[in-house]
Amino acid sequence: MIHTNSHLALDHTPLPAIYPLIDTHTHFDAPVFDGDRQSQTQQAYMQGVQHLVLVGYLQRYFSRLYETQQAIEQIHLSKDKDKTDRRDVYPVAHIALGLHPFYIEQHTDTHLSSMAQMIQEQRPLAIGEIGLDTYTDAMKQPEVFAKQARFFTAQLDIAVLHKLPVMLHIRKAHAEALALLKAHSYDAHKLGGIAHSFSGGEQEAKAFVKLGFKLGITGQITNHNAKKLRRAIKAAVDSHGIECLVLETDCPDMMPIMCQKAKDTQLDSQSANQSTTGQSPDNEWYGADGHNRNVPANLPWVLKGLSELLSVEPAVLAPQLWQNSCNALQTSWPYPK
Ligand SMILES: [Zn+2]
Repeated sequence: MIHTNSHLALDHTPLPAIYPLIDTHTHFDAPVFDGDRQSQTQQAYMQGVQHLVLVGYLQRYFSRLYETQQAIEQIHLSKDKDKTDRRDVYPVAHIALGLHPFYIEQHTDTHLSSMAQMIQEQRPLAIGEIGLDTYTDAMKQPEVFAKQARFFTAQLDIAVLHKLPVMLHIRKAHAEALALLKAHSYDAHKLGGIAHSFSGGEQEAKAFVKLGFKLGITGQITNHNAKKLRRAIKAAVDSHGIECLVLETDCPDMMPIMCQKAKDTQLDSQSANQSTTGQSPDNEWYGADGHNRNVPANLPWVLKGLSELLSVEPAVLAPQLWQNSCNALQTSWPYPK
């Protein structure tokens, strides 16, 4: 039997133009970016990234989100004193606050109330990432899952109270999450929201879109071995149009396949559906080297992968994805001409 390697068919040539993009989900505040965040911010901008969202996952790192946002703002101020519109040179960073289901054992009710307090004091762009995750056996334990559901519901309550969109993290719990969302007063048709790094099947993809959520597309879409994901996204678009999608890097996770260095490529087939660091416990991020670290500047590869999957020109996709992101995040950022 001839061993076929689908990667050989991959087109590694970059897009012919730079398109304005919104990175709807990053962990750009992670320490793995401390050494070169400023130059990575600039590179992201040069690749078209105009806005990026710093997404929360543990209460003890919420202040780091604000510090990172301020550091990026400082680049605007220090580099562009003479420019009337400083925002022309670097992306604008926004914040989502949330307690991630993967870290459920670490969350306390005090974290919930201090998060509610922070939202009062400094309104974030969104609540996230929140949801349900039964990736490990430990997380399937009834009491652990019950705590996830309780924190998910409590944070949906906060989103409703403050009229904020949510960023959902749902892994191996799509049916349960859909049931919980349907029973809750959170209305994504009104408040927006993103099913971040969507990983469910065709029916689940359509069900989340029907509830009003956009599906977050990561670098996994560039992996031709991620067949279930590619089918699900195609099915959602066939039913609901490209209006149901947004882009994200989820950096430092979810590296687009063409950005992975040679020594990683043998791992591609194993990591087709789950990146090795996917939603990693964050101490892995401390150890991640530049070699396998995804960055916001890689977002055009996600656009390219999606463009190829859907056979829609990037010049058509990009403005629509921008509008979709604004709708999902309840903003009206003008599309740069
Ligand atoms: Zn994330």
